[in-house]
Amino acid sequence: MRFFPGSDSLLPHFMIDYDFIIVGSGAAGLSAALHASDYGRVAVITKRGALDSNSNWAQGGIACVTSEQDSIAQHVSDTLIAGAGLCDEAAVRTIVTEGPDRIAELVKWGVDFDQRPAANGHLEFDLTREGGHSQRRVLHAADATGREMTEKLLAAVREKSNITMYENHFAVDIITTGKLGFVSEDRVLGLYVLNEESREVLTFRSDRVVIATGGCGRVYLYTTNPQVATGDGVALAWRAGARVANMEFIQFHPTCLYHPEKRSFLITEAMRGEGARLIGADGKEFMQNYDPRGSLAPRDIVARAIDHEIKRTGGPCVYLDISHKPADFIISHFPNIHKACLEVDIDITKQPIPVVPAAHYQCGGVVTDVNGATHIRGLCAVGEVGCTGLHGANRLASNSLLECLVISHRAVEHMVKKMPVNKAHEQVYIIPPWQSGEAVDNDELVVIYHNWDEIRRLMWDYVSIVRTGKRLQRAAARLRNLKREVQEFYWNFRITSELLELRNLVETASLIVECAIRRHESRGLHYTLDFPEKDDTRPAADTSLRRY
Ligand SMILES: Cc1cc2nc3c(=O)[nH]c(=O)nc-3n(C[C@H](O)[C@H](O)[C@H](O)COP(=O)(O)OP(=O)(O)OC[C@H]3O[C@@H](n4cnc5c(N)ncnc54)[C@H](O)[C@@H]3O)c2cc1C
Repeated sequence: MRFFPGSDSLLPHFMIDYDFIIVGSGAAGLSAALHASDYGRVAVITKRGALDSNSNWAQGGIACVTSEQDSIAQHVSDTLIAGAGLCDEAAVRTIVTEGPDRIAELVKWGVDFDQRPAANGHLEFDLTREGGHSQRRVLHAADATGREMTEKLLAAVREKSNITMYENHFAVDIITTGKLGFVSEDRVLGLYVLNEESREVLTFRSDRVVIATGGCGRVYLYTTNPQVATGDGVALAWRAGARVANMEFIQFHPTCLYHPEKRSFLITEAMRGEGARLIGADGKEFMQNYDPRGSLAPRDIVARAIDHEIKRTGGPCVYLDISHKPADFIISHFPNIHKACLEVDIDITKQPIPVVPAAHYQCGGVVTDVNGATHIRGLCAVGEVGCTGLHGANRLASNSLLECLVISHRAVEHMVKKMPVNKAHEQVYIIPPWQSGEAVDNDELVVIYHNWDEIRRLMWDYVSIVRTGKRLQRAAARLRNLKREVQEFYWNFRITSELLELRNLVETASLIVECAIRRHESRGLHYTLDFPEKDDTRPAADTSLRRY
């Protein structure tokens, strides 16, 4: 902690000064911290516990070329096909090519991927194959790859004496020269951060800030994402003046358990692969009405069909039924799902599972180059929060963890080469302390929860899998009002993590709607009844937004 002169109030205040500040402790944030620790003092700011992240929940694995039957060219080609014409091919090539080095590093940090005996008697990675991949190339640790990775990365971080982990610290806003009104190149100066225990807002100072805050699944009523995924990084970067793109491309997983006590529990696609059928409340199969492949149609088609059935029948969910298979087959193939469903009194060997599609992954985000750099000097965005051009209009399964690792490494190397720490900035750019002004404690938490629910419900009803211009306009109008209300709370009440998440949620929801309104075609994950086809009359383009 260092002492700096204050500004406005001419009162001195404390700033916490680091060579690198990383916001987020998922795969992207933890691996960035490990790289950065080779070059200086690092702060990792994370709003809950260090293991609260999407990364920790990842099941399938990491896509990477590690087998001789596979090639970089094939992985690039599969990614481009999934991306429906919107990938940045150079970025795809770089990320895919650098994958094997990053995997080797993970192994060095202790990550234990499943292996199997090879023909030559040695061990090789036990690679699985997922939808859209032309080869087996997904490394995994059973069906809990994310947990294995984050636990090992965190253990490695804890061993570094120059990395400080700030748990329960919430990044409120990014401080830039532009926001402070300096007429100079826009550059990052640090962050205001809420210490959730002491409720103080601290000033963190650094010329190098990495946003690794993950995605925004909680914007939707149904999501596979854990509670931390509230779109904070996109909102933070947007308010700081960074460009945001392609937020209309939200990937929905077709089958998430529909139950109030287990809202974010995924039912793997493998269950349909093993013969499970999608049925309506009347017990009849409906997928044949949408696609000749029935329940085995690709993820986005199944998600769209379920959405249509739910809207058509007015029911809350549809059902996935595997109960016609022998009980021991079901239990041996799906032990975790069997157990999790039994916990909420659903015996999948005897009854169908209520399911809904759920928001799963944010393909767009803060626009960066392939070094994770935004156009604000010193500000990088890495992992799910960033938009490098890897995913285009649709993510190829298991490419996201790969992107986390490659881009965080590149971001650190880029900052070290191009952004040397300049101590003179501390004297030139004086950061005022956080001002709480007349704000009082909010004694009506119910208002925050009500708005939070309203946003998630309206996003689900108007902006989810199948869209129309009319529904999008309706959502935009409601969000404008909600934004005004939330802004009022923000100015009048002392900030809490609930209020900050609500503020970020409404901002991110508005950006999704704005991007969706601007895309006059259906492409990849964006499907609108007003323009049901891809527009091939002009070159495919990103939907890019800039606040100022
Ligand atoms: C159920 C599930 C299964 C998945 N399976 C796979 C898979 O098999 N393969 C694959 O490649 N991808 C998978 N994904 C996607 C993948 O897990 C994510 O894209 C990836 O983990 C994102 O990593 P990240 O580091 O960018 O963000 P996260 O892992 O989400 O980490 C974000 C971090 O930022 C913190 N944070 C957020 N806002 C703030 C703030 N304001 N202040 C401070 N801290 C903040 C959070 O607390 C968290 O620590 C899956 C996702 C889910 C939900």
